[in-house]
Amino acid sequence: MEIKEWIENLPEYIPGKTIEEIKIKYNLENVYKLASNENILGPAQEVEEAICNGAKTINYYPDSNCTKIKNKLSKKYKIPTENIILGNGTDQIIELVCNCLIGEIENIVISDPTFLIYEKAALKLGGKTIKVALKNYRQDVKSLVDNINKNTKILFLTSPHNPTGTIITKDEFEYILNNVAKDKLIVVDEAYYEYVVKEEQLDTVKYLKDFPNLLILRTFSKIYGLAGLRIGYGISNEKIIKALNKIRLPFNVNSIAQKAAAIALDNEDYVKNIRQDIIKEKEKFYNVFENSGIKYIKSYANFVLIKVGKNDKDISTDLLKSGFIVRPGSNLGLPGYIRVTVSLPEINKKFLKMLVKTYKN
Ligand SMILES: *Cc1c(COP(=O)(O)O)cnc(C)c1O
Repeated sequence: MEIKEWIENLPEYIPGKTIEEIKIKYNLENVYKLASNENILGPAQEVEEAICNGAKTINYYPDSNCTKIKNKLSKKYKIPTENIILGNGTDQIIELVCNCLIGEIENIVISDPTFLIYEKAALKLGGKTIKVALKNYRQDVKSLVDNINKNTKILFLTSPHNPTGTIITKDEFEYILNNVAKDKLIVVDEAYYEYVVKEEQLDTVKYLKDFPNLLILRTFSKIYGLAGLRIGYGISNEKIIKALNKIRLPFNVNSIAQKAAAIALDNEDYVKNIRQDIIKEKEKFYNVFENSGIKYIKSYANFVLIKVGKNDKDISTDLLKSGFIVRPGSNLGLPGYIRVTVSLPEINKKFLKMLVKTYKN
C-alpha cells in the first residue's frame, strides 16, 4: 500500500505532555497546565450537569442541524440561523472553509507567526501559504492586504492574536474590509473574543450585512471551558454557510457538546466573571514583570507572551520540572519567548514566583 507522498513527508503532530505524564516523570504532586489557554475553572455548574445528563440519551445520534444552539446564537447575535454553522471545534470550520476554496493553485494569506491550523488546512489541499511578518507583535494589516494576489482565496485574521494576545482595532478591521476584493474570504478567528475588555470588543457581526465575504469564528473551547467537548461556530453569509454544510459530515458535533453549549449560552454572567478575574490576574502578572525587569506583551486574551531570551526551551524545561507546563516560543514561531496561560490566583502566584527565580538563574 502506498500512502500519498505528501502525507509521508508531513511531520507527525506531537501533542504536549499530559499532567499525568509530567507528574510521573518529575515525581511531582501538583502539575499545572498553562500551555493551551484552557479555562482551568471549567464550565459553569449547570453546564457540568447538562454534560452528565447527556449520558442518558447517548444511544441516539445527535441533531445534525444543532437546532437548539443555532436558535440561541440567532437570538444572541440577531441574525438568521442560516448564517450559522457549528463545528467539531472551530478547527473543523477552518478545515471546511479551506476544503471549499483551496486547491493546488490557490493560496491563503496569514500572519507569521499565527495559529498553526490555518496553514495545515491549506497545505493538506496542496494550497500555498503567503506569510506576512507581525509588526511590533501585531498583525500588519496593510501588508496583509498588499500581499493578496489573484490566486488568494482566504485571508486569515486572529483577534485576539495567538500567540501574542494583541488585537485588531476597529480602524484596522475596516481598512481590511474596505481594501480586500469581495471575491476573497476574510476569516476573523475570535477564539478569545470574550476575554477582551468590554470597551474594546469589536462587534464584527454587524459588518456581515455589508460584507458577505466575512466569516467570524468563535468557540466554546476557551472562556466557556469546554475544550474537551469540541464545539465552536462560524457566522457568515448564507451562501458560504450552505457550502460548508454540504461538505461537513452529518454528525460533526456530538450530542453532549450540543447540550452543554446550549446551556452555557444562557449564563452570560459566568463569562463576564471569568473575564474580570483574568483581567485582574493579568495586572498582577504585569506588576511582577515590571518589578523584575521581565519584558512581556500586553495581552487581550487569557495568556501572556513573556520575553525570556535565547533559551526559551531551557526555561520551559526548568518550569516543567517545577510543575508548570508552558509553551516555549520556539514551538510557536517565536523563539526567545514563552506563552503562559493565566490561571487561578493561587496558581498564578506560585508560577510568577518560580518564573522570577528561573529567569534570574
Ligand atoms: C484555541 C484556539 C481556537 C479554538 O479551537 P477549537 O477547535 O474551537 O478548540 C481557534 N483559534 C485559535 C487562534 C485558538 O487559539
